Amino acid sequence: MQFRKVIGQEEAKKGLIQTVKDGRISHAQLFFGPAGAGALPLALAYAQYITCEHRTEDDSCGTCSSCKQISALQYPDLHFSFPYIKHRVGEVTADDHVGNWKKMIQESPYADVQQWRYFVNAENKQLTFTVDEAANINKKIWLKSFTGGYKFIVIWLPEFMTLAVSNKLLKSIEEPPEKTIFLMVTENQEALLATITSRTQLVKVPRLSDDDVRSAVVLRDGVISNEKVEQLVQMADGNYFKAWQKLHLDQEDLHFNQFVAWMRMCYKKDVAEMVKFANEMHASGRENMKEFLDFATFMARQCIVGNYTDGKLSRFGPREADFAQKFAPFINSGNIAEIAEELQEAYYDISGNVYGKTVLLDLSLKMHGLLRRPVESL
Ligand SMILES: [Zn+2]
Repeated sequence: MQFRKVIGQEEAKKGLIQTVKDGRISHAQLFFGPAGAGALPLALAYAQYITCEHRTEDDSCGTCSSCKQISALQYPDLHFSFPYIKHRVGEVTADDHVGNWKKMIQESPYADVQQWRYFVNAENKQLTFTVDEAANINKKIWLKSFTGGYKFIVIWLPEFMTLAVSNKLLKSIEEPPEKTIFLMVTENQEALLATITSRTQLVKVPRLSDDDVRSAVVLRDGVISNEKVEQLVQMADGNYFKAWQKLHLDQEDLHFNQFVAWMRMCYKKDVAEMVKFANEMHASGRENMKEFLDFATFMARQCIVGNYTDGKLSRFGPREADFAQKFAPFINSGNIAEIAEELQEAYYDISGNVYGKTVLLDLSLKMHGLLRRPVESL
């Protein structure tokens, strides 16, 4: 990926290019910023700039063999590590999941952790790095470089590392072999262990401005209608990935992702997330909110159908069935009628022009109460 393909972030780009010109490339760097701001694309563009055979003042060439291989995520000295679910015996390192991860990043390098969960069907499972993965990284940094040049270890979302895992990596991060560069990319710097943060050079990747998102959806995604552009800008709220999802995932997929995330935040009573969700939904427009509530009603009903009939009558696809199976215990005879009623009521309120933010926040809080209600005897 070339720098010019990274949305906005002019200041960060300038700073990174300067480190190459000055010959002071730090061996451990932490790109940090909110989801959808482009920390990973920036790290990839940086690696490409460093290895490019014909780089210019302000960008890599995009056509030499290093550029092509890095763009395709196939450069032999570019290694990736990221959190994953350990679901089969023997699957113990990120290498076992790297095909899926690259596929997601090729589709959209702006993808966030929620998209990754969805991609690997891990909505209700724990993402983690294992101690074996730390050992794997420690081994990789001592392998001879294929190209004779720099070797990169890109660690996506290191905030998912446990203390044990990060401890195993500290020495490598502090004193890697020559020409080895750690590029870490975090969505949540606060959750990251201070032992890691303190050993890295920080690269700030701020939230994108509305203007950045606006030109991205026009120039990259080819959206023409002004009204649609403004709707996407509002919905994105500085997170380009939100706009990308709306444009490139089919609506049923999108609603499914939203429904799963919504149920999780309602169950946990994560009020900050509920407010964010209500704002995003509101910004997406009335018709979209109605479609979502329809979909939520369908999902809730399917959960109970699955619940009562052992899955036989449910018309879910494998992904929905998997979610419903785990979620069905929370939707039962004691609350289904009220859940359906609340969803319907919200639907009518939205249709009748009641303020979307208020309706959805209120609905989320009610959902929390309903989902947590103890199961009554059947
Ligand atoms: Zn090049």
